[in-house]
Amino acid sequence: MKQINYNVEITGIVQGVGFRPFLYNLARKLDLKGQIVNRGNAGVRLTLQGEEENLEAFLGEIEKTKPKIAFIESIKVIKAESDKIYSSLTIGKSEEGRGISLTLPPDIAICENCIRDMRNPDLQKYYNYPFIACAVCGPRFTTVRELPYDRERSTMINFPFCKNAKPESCMAEYSDFQNRRFHAQTFACSICGPNYQLYDKGKKSIKTDSIDEILKITTKRI
Ligand SMILES: [Zn+2]
Ligand SMILES: [Zn+2]
Repeated sequence: MKQINYNVEITGIVQGVGFRPFLYNLARKLDLKGQIVNRGNAGVRLTLQGEEENLEAFLGEIEKTKPKIAFIESIKVIKAESDKIYSSLTIGKSEEGRGISLTLPPDIAICENCIRDMRNPDLQKYYNYPFIACAVCGPRFTTVRELPYDRERSTMINFPFCKNAKPESCMAEYSDFQNRRFHAQTFACSICGPNYQLYDKGKKSIKTDSIDEILKITTKRI
């Protein structure tokens, strides 16, 4: 039986703003199947199948509930018959075509949830970790080398996700659609991410990993 595909192309500031995870969760809620991919030209392309009513609801919800920092320039929908039947919903590998674009978001100030994680002593991997981030906050412009926006094309490629950290590794967070770091590209934790080191004038390292102590030492020396 032929299926009707909704081929949707969205342009604007839609990469690096948690847009794919947002679309994934919206489509999932409406029981849609298909694929979501970042395009080399900075847009996002979706191929979706499902009840027509749900597909239309999906299109209607995008603008209303999108991540705050996302900016939609255009949404183009082409409906076409297809023999392929999607049995699941996935975020696919980004398209090859590369491009430089001015539609990348800036670095985004830390969000409330990340501040909470950073202050939670039970969450050791993020506790007092200054480079904490998630799908809606953290570095973007300063880390992305080229589009499409993915970790492998950002400076974070040098920091592979940890796989064993407790209570949840960064790899597990990245893969869990209910986690707010689902498909976030530039986050890391104190175990797998960038870290900091304090040096004195003679370039000798000062051994401490307590941020409070570092603050005390530096304020004394300023
Ligand atoms: Zn955040
Ligand atoms: Zn980690």
